[in-house]
Amino acid sequence: MYIERNLLKIRKLAGIREDDNYRFRVFLKGKDGEKIDKIVHRLHKEVSAQIDCTSCANCCYCLTPKVSKADIDILARLENISPEEFQDAYCETDFGSTYLEGTPCRYIDGKKCGIYENRPEQCKTYPNTGKPDFVARSLGMIGNYEVCPIVFNIMEMLKEELWFRSRY
Ligand code: SF4
Ligand code: SF4
Repeated sequence: MYIERNLLKIRKLAGIREDDNYRFRVFLKGKDGEKIDKIVHRLHKEVSAQIDCTSCANCCYCLTPKVSKADIDILARLENISPEEFQDAYCETDFGSTYLEGTPCRYIDGKKCGIYENRPEQCKTYPNTGKPDFVARSLGMIGNYEVCPIVFNIMEMLKEELWFRSRY
């Protein structure tokens, strides 16, 4: 199985394949969600085992993780300030959700997370390809296709397994 890891190539292909990915989303909606999850979870294991996140870190440079109150409490303790001070200084709120502010993430150190053991819950589960309901979350997956090589490769392999006819 060929795995694409080149972030520049992935970003370029994401632009070229954008319309196709939206067509693929419509295609998926006509399929059995449980069967799709089984395939995606197998691909998730195969692809994740072959991609080293510490050689990538693209999500930490491009995305702002959502943080819960529990995450904020932990991060505030690390910074030696109160949760309220942490939220004012380092977070932003959008549609009622709170995110770490700005990119790259203040905790990225080269390609490694400087607070790995204490990273927010959302960082632990990203890119969420091991979770159920892939079809219901396919819009988010299209957004992550250009950021995360794991998502990119899973989506491409899924298209192939399902005999999806690309038009690019
Ligand atoms: S989760 Fe995806 S984008 Fe983030 S470091 Fe791993 S491969 Fe890269
Ligand atoms: S907290 Fe760590 S894992 Fe999460 S975005 Fe920042 S550097 Fe990446």
